[in-house]
Amino acid sequence: MFDKRSTVKEKLTLMIPGPTPVPETVLQAMGSHPIGHRSAEFQAIVERTNQQLQWLHQTTNDVMVITGSGTAAMEAGIINTLSKGDKVLCGDNGKFGERWVKVAKAYGLDVEVIKATWGQPLDPEAFQSSLKADTNNQIKAVIVTHSETSTGVLNDLEAISQNVKNHSQALIIADCVTSLGACNVPMDKWGIDVVASGSQKGYMMPPGLSFVAMSQHAWQAQQNSNLPKFYLDLGAYRKASHNNSNPFTPAVNLYFALEKSLEIMQEEGLEEIFRRHARHRAAAQAGMKAIGLQLFAAEGYGSPAITAVEPKDIDAEQIRKDVKKQFDILLAGGQDHLKGKVFRIGHLGFVNDRDVLTAVSAIEATLESRNGHQGKMGSGVAAAALAIKQNS
Ligand SMILES: *Cc1c(COP(=O)(O)O)cnc(C)c1O
Repeated sequence: MFDKRSTVKEKLTLMIPGPTPVPETVLQAMGSHPIGHRSAEFQAIVERTNQQLQWLHQTTNDVMVITGSGTAAMEAGIINTLSKGDKVLCGDNGKFGERWVKVAKAYGLDVEVIKATWGQPLDPEAFQSSLKADTNNQIKAVIVTHSETSTGVLNDLEAISQNVKNHSQALIIADCVTSLGACNVPMDKWGIDVVASGSQKGYMMPPGLSFVAMSQHAWQAQQNSNLPKFYLDLGAYRKASHNNSNPFTPAVNLYFALEKSLEIMQEEGLEEIFRRHARHRAAAQAGMKAIGLQLFAAEGYGSPAITAVEPKDIDAEQIRKDVKKQFDILLAGGQDHLKGKVFRIGHLGFVNDRDVLTAVSAIEATLESRNGHQGKMGSGVAAAALAIKQNS
């Protein structure tokens, strides 16, 4: 029964960009018996989590909670604010940008795609040019991914938002699934109209809940939106949420987890959370460079949630498999044409300095055993440790 394999499995460390590790106390909170979702006890949890979510989003707007994965929040953001045939500008520099394009097209929107090569950030100027050319205000929304998880690129959402606001009334709809809870996403200050996120990322929770925050501007658009919707009709969620309730049966036990995880986040504080993620990005980047591995994201645009690494002479998938097999650390692979070309180190959510240092050393040891280490064994760990020290 209790063979070696299962003991080893217990030690699995997730370093993928979702699901991310979950604190013990959050798991314990989930293990309680479900309670009635119309009870006063549950309403108190909804009231509290609503406030906590506003804190996390740095907003005074409502944050809607949906039972579903992050894509449900993305889809909800589109179908609640736009109408048939609306023209939208969609940023695409990776797998999740592509997903936005697919969702928008699935609902018959007229999509103009602003592309950047995978690994490069979206150019904020490109949005500006399209909006300037749109003299009769046909573009109703600008849709972008903040942290492009597939490539490890953090797009400059603040600059894009500013450029949009300078030239148009278009809504700004953002996938903040791997930026929220990792770096600063002040929704109100930046004027983001729709922010989509999911529980298995920065929230330090299992998968299952997704979140959509909408500005007043977005709620105005919602009044006229005619795209088909029922389960994801956010009007119903908003109405229910004002009564500390949900339109349908919510994932009650995930709410227990949500309350707990947001409490942990509030204890740490936003500034410290952002600093920790920035530190882990610095450590992962420094560690990889020191062992001769190239980073995939353009310099200066690395995501605080994930570092994509592009080994030149060794199959990335092989490194990933070795690290899993020998060290029980699960790294993410490359997606689509990046399969075998990159591996990705997730450092999002419930991750500490030790996790990052361990991952760097495991990758380093793997390279060493495959004779791919470009320097001296230990140089990666030394560089990562120094980066941790400098960013503490
Ligand atoms: C994980 C992720 C999503 C959501 O994916 P789901 O599988 O639907 O939860 C969306 N955007 C980005 C950038 C992500 O990393």
